[in-house]
Amino acid sequence: MPLDNPLLRQQAYIAGRWSNAADGRRHTILNPASGEPVGEVPDMGAEETHAAIAAAEAALPAWRALPAKERARLLRRWFDRVMAHQEDLARLMTAEQGKPLAEARGEVAYGASFIEWFAEEGKRAYGDVMPGPAGDRRIIVLRQPVGVVAAITPWNFPIAMITRKVAPALAAGCTAVVKPAEATPFCALALAALAEEAGLPPGVINIVTTARPAEVGAALTASPVVRKLSFTGSTGVGKRLMAQCADTVKRLSLELGGNAPFIVLDDADLDAAVTGALASKYRNAGQTCVCANRFLVQDGVYDAFAAKLTAAVRALKVADGLGDGVQIGPLINAAAVDKVERLVTASVEAGARVLTGGSRHELGGNFYTPTVLADVGNDMPIAREESFGPVAPLLRFRDDAEAVRLANDTRAGLAAYLYGRDLKRVWRVAEQLEYGMVGINEGIISNEIAPFGGVKESGLGREGSRYGLDEYLEMQYLCLGGM
Ligand code: NAD
Repeated sequence: MPLDNPLLRQQAYIAGRWSNAADGRRHTILNPASGEPVGEVPDMGAEETHAAIAAAEAALPAWRALPAKERARLLRRWFDRVMAHQEDLARLMTAEQGKPLAEARGEVAYGASFIEWFAEEGKRAYGDVMPGPAGDRRIIVLRQPVGVVAAITPWNFPIAMITRKVAPALAAGCTAVVKPAEATPFCALALAALAEEAGLPPGVINIVTTARPAEVGAALTASPVVRKLSFTGSTGVGKRLMAQCADTVKRLSLELGGNAPFIVLDDADLDAAVTGALASKYRNAGQTCVCANRFLVQDGVYDAFAAKLTAAVRALKVADGLGDGVQIGPLINAAAVDKVERLVTASVEAGARVLTGGSRHELGGNFYTPTVLADVGNDMPIAREESFGPVAPLLRFRDDAEAVRLANDTRAGLAAYLYGRDLKRVWRVAEQLEYGMVGINEGIISNEIAPFGGVKESGLGREGSRYGLDEYLEMQYLCLGGM
């Protein structure tokens, strides 16, 4: 029995039509809390991907020709429908992704905020007029839509990672082909259903569902019609897609993995740091790319911070995300639990000490007990790899220079966090962090207004903010001579 939800759609959405795979293949999506089926979607391949690209190409001329204000009006209608269905979308998300319902409601609002923001921002794709090099010439710079955009998105934020790409693309005058993660296609399809209701023309958004991401990814990256790929996901897949895009020299935005340090200086407000730590680390059961992955705590406050954090983590309520007051749901699948278990076991063998948790949860299945580890070294697996689970490893440092050295000793550079009261010191340390984003006395930094993105191997480009629109615009220079 598929989930009872008015927004459940079990077909893909191509050229404004709800479609099946050409050969009828389907795949089943399981609820990560219960293991029960949520529903089925078409398992599409290269052929349907080509059809989606053709649909986006066909829709492009009319869409880009609309006045920005008219595109904004349609996007705003889409935003209104998403918010009107916040509860249905949140329940769909918890069913396929597992996050607690309160977080799912928050993600719907967060995801919708990109549609609202870029509906406005699209009106401001301003160009330039520059003084010419000679009296008879004028230089004009236009901002043109890139063209057909491909978006490949992860399962951890099944709505927001789509709207953060598609809303600026559409606002800029581009059309899009979205390939959602195989674990979470229903949120994507529900977004498409609401876009259809809002009156977005056929072909402007296309959703290709698949259990064969490599085949669809290859078709998207090989196509010369697709002018831009925006990808959020693991660093390994991002690198592979970047290589695949070389042949057609596509524009790229990559939001890849992080390994966020959370630095607690000895003058920090420890209660505020624990609150920030809970939000940053345990949200979505630790499955966000900006999750704190290593806690660097200064000697003088290490034991006190460890005690406070451990007490708070022990009190977290773990259960199916639909339950009342649940704070930690299941991980996405068995492989995710295996990974967390492997990292914790290897780190404990290397000398880390379990303060709380340290094992699978008694609920079984995909549940892992919220964990705090002390005496962690920066060379241990739990500090080297992104755990994507509810585990806080605590490392110790003596002075600011050591904190900066440890923090930067990774190939990732997405988010970092810093708690301290001395503004001068905080500023100096923050400036030395090789990270695209730094939360200062704040554990939640993502919003539609600020530029989200990483440096080093965490990616290319920025999403959200006024800079997010630039990712979908090309500069075109017109030289007007004979004046
Ligand atoms: P993933 O890379 O396995 O999957 C992401 C997407 O890529 C999915 O849609 C998947 O189907 C697709 N994919 C997988 N192999 C592919 C291939 N060969 N060709 C084309 N597409 C392919 O990552 P995940 O496990 O879904 O997500 C977790 C990772 O994503 C973490 O590393 C996390 O840090 C990162 N992430 C980053 C951000 C960010 O903004 N930087 C946000 C969320 C998640």
